[in-house]
Amino acid sequence: MGRKRSFRRARGGGLAREAGGHAGALDAGAGVARAPYSSREMDERAASAGEAGTHGEAAASGAPRRRIATYDARVEDVISETHDTVSLVLATPAPVEYAAGHFLTIDPHQFEELQDLTAYLEDVKGRREKTRAYSMCSSPLEPRLAVTVKEERYVRGVTRYPPLLSPYLVRRVVPGQRMAVVGFTGAYVLPRDVEARAEHLVHLVAGSGSVPNFAILKYALAVHPRLRHTFVYSNKTWDDVIFRDALAALEARFPARLRVVHTLTREEDPERHGANVCRGRVGAALLRKIIPDPGASLVYACGPGIGPYERAAARARFEPPAPRFLETVLVALEEIGVPKERVRTEAYG
Ligand SMILES: Cc1cc2nc3c(=O)[nH]c(=O)nc-3n(C[C@H](O)[C@H](O)[C@H](O)COP(=O)(O)OP(=O)(O)OC[C@H]3O[C@@H](n4cnc5c(N)ncnc54)[C@H](O)[C@@H]3O)c2cc1C
Repeated sequence: MGRKRSFRRARGGGLAREAGGHAGALDAGAGVARAPYSSREMDERAASAGEAGTHGEAAASGAPRRRIATYDARVEDVISETHDTVSLVLATPAPVEYAAGHFLTIDPHQFEELQDLTAYLEDVKGRREKTRAYSMCSSPLEPRLAVTVKEERYVRGVTRYPPLLSPYLVRRVVPGQRMAVVGFTGAYVLPRDVEARAEHLVHLVAGSGSVPNFAILKYALAVHPRLRHTFVYSNKTWDDVIFRDALAALEARFPARLRVVHTLTREEDPERHGANVCRGRVGAALLRKIIPDPGASLVYACGPGIGPYERAAARARFEPPAPRFLETVLVALEEIGVPKERVRTEAYG
């Protein structure tokens, strides 16, 4: 606790410390195990939602019926969440409507600074670079719209290409900058009658997978008073935990309704960070303790899953793709008897 890190990125790239917290400190307020959404799928999903005038799931959840639109957003603030993650607070010309768990998309082609890299990647990949999706970390009840972006890194011998958009959004965007964002859509939202379906909402998230769940958590704490939450958050190290202070503050504010559990895979002595911090991955043993009531729980799981690139690489090695976070938790959930229809997933490739 006690980490009060908030930086406003000054023009010219410098970081100036400012008072206040992260985007989590903004005024608070069943699906299937599926392959991760590729950018293409996201474009198609966004396009079809736009054509239909609304997204089916969003409509079912009470999300407002509206077309997908392009917004000329101005970056109001850049908030440093961790060493590699920022929240971009976006001001739009008119108020926007979205549901907790929705995402927007950003087209890398609009950024002059990325033109060479985009063109180069298109040449070597032999296809046009797609828009990237970013979930809102803000709840629709909050006055400010914000997304949270974690920087992807190029790892020699592991990743095939340097990542395109996230390093730019994390390292180079400054307050006052304008960008076109397209939104809002996504099926990873609460059903309108969630309180009739469950007493306990279990959030299973890893890395930037916490972003939509953080929005859902803030929204549900405010709007669904009968719902209890357990927020299980997997990261490599304590310093990788996004929304760390905000989650702790919510837990302190709603002690009877929210329990936060951190699991760290690369921390020497995780317990020193608190009784709710444990070592390792999210597996069946932990989930059995957290979900004693599988029939009364709904699980929202978000994080890395096997994507088209992992699938293709595995095919080339004549091996099955190695399970990632989502595949691992889905197996564990099945093992402890959580019915599939009580699990929703969102995969970040
Ligand atoms: C619904 C949804 C919501 C999301 N929400 C968030 C969010 O809230 N916050 C967040 O940080 N991220 C989120 N993401 C992930 C985000 O959309 C981007 O995928 C992420 O930021 C990486 O984009 P990039 O342009 O930096 O990297 P990319 O350029 O997309 O590269 C990412 C990786 O893919 C590899 N790669 C790219 N193209 C190929 C290819 N042709 N062949 C082989 N390998 C390839 C690269 O080598 C690299 O390892 C979300 C994704 C989805 C689908």
